[in-house]
Amino acid sequence: METNDGPRKKRRTSKSPSRDEPVRHDILWFLDGNVVLSTKIYLFRVHKSILSLHSSVFCDMFQLVGEGSDEEKEENDDVEDSEDSGIAPHNHDVNSDNDTNADKKLDGDSDSDREAANTCSRKSSLSPEGDTYEGLPLVDLAGEDGEGVSKLLRAVYERDFYHRDDNSTSLETIVSLLLLSTKYNFKHIRTDVIIQISRQYPMSLNAFCALDKQHELFGKTRDKCSMRLLQAAIQADVYALLPILFYACAKFPISSVAFNPCKLPEDYMETLVLGKEELEGAINSFVSIFPCSMLKISGANECKNKGCASDGPFFAGNLGALVGTASLTDIEGERVVEKCFRACRKCRASLIKRINEQREAIWSAVPDFFGYDDWGYLQGKLDGVIAEGRGVRT
Ligand SMILES: [Zn+2]
Repeated sequence: METNDGPRKKRRTSKSPSRDEPVRHDILWFLDGNVVLSTKIYLFRVHKSILSLHSSVFCDMFQLVGEGSDEEKEENDDVEDSEDSGIAPHNHDVNSDNDTNADKKLDGDSDSDREAANTCSRKSSLSPEGDTYEGLPLVDLAGEDGEGVSKLLRAVYERDFYHRDDNSTSLETIVSLLLLSTKYNFKHIRTDVIIQISRQYPMSLNAFCALDKQHELFGKTRDKCSMRLLQAAIQADVYALLPILFYACAKFPISSVAFNPCKLPEDYMETLVLGKEELEGAINSFVSIFPCSMLKISGANECKNKGCASDGPFFAGNLGALVGTASLTDIEGERVVEKCFRACRKCRASLIKRINEQREAIWSAVPDFFGYDDWGYLQGKLDGVIAEGRGVRT
């Protein structure tokens, strides 16, 4: 496919130009493209058949707009054949949790376009009322600034633009791909982004803590990613990821939550704050009985070892440092015993085991703190979304 550089002003046949005209995108302008997408800053000349392969929203829209020349009809038949063979399934109801009003938002004229398409002959290549750009159908993606659409289209056209295993992908790209793939139902891209996020925010305590200790993710600190990803997952309706992202955000001080530039819808903010309170309460109660646990363990072990609980002060640290945390990474057994207790090897091992068992118990309750079903249910839900996105029947 050939591309053509050089911005050129958009011309409409049925509307007068606005003051800030979008310009042709440097990369996503293919001379053999057969549709032009218009956003606030860019025009994209792309291919109906390729977008239809990836997106049920575009597929439906192009059919409604009234392509119908014999050539285009063959093109569509090819697309349908590919989908039948499982190459690119596009059923709109497969991801029932991500159906959006994208088609309503595409253009204020979409209803009239549909009527026109219904009444128009299949022979016509365009709705008579539709906009064109140099003779090509012009689709106004109303409300899109263009940067996000550019990322989405590059993920479609450029094999190397986005890999779900590349965690150096920018947070901005991850978020744009998640939101726009959901809005326009680019099912495979959406699934890849969900897989990538879920790998970075796993639903098992040990796996989560191991990643939680890493500093960077998606070109930022992990902490900076969490709130933005939670916001995006809410917007993209990725239910199964919400509790783990709520948990990841709960460790922030309440002021960081309240004044975070990533604003959550009010009810989700309430969920975060209340869940954070419950989680902190559970951890505080647990931390406060650490000394008792140590004495019990020493007693149960009938320990008389020098330097252990029965041999003078065993409490060597300040538990206050652990009070008020909402992070189970902070109270990992070995770390706590190292910091806070003197104990013989045997009692130490018992205490670490006891602490870690209790951490697991709190971890099991985390989804409930935020008002969700348990991890097993959520993992099943996530697996289902991923399987559907890949076109696998579950
Ligand atoms: Zn001991």
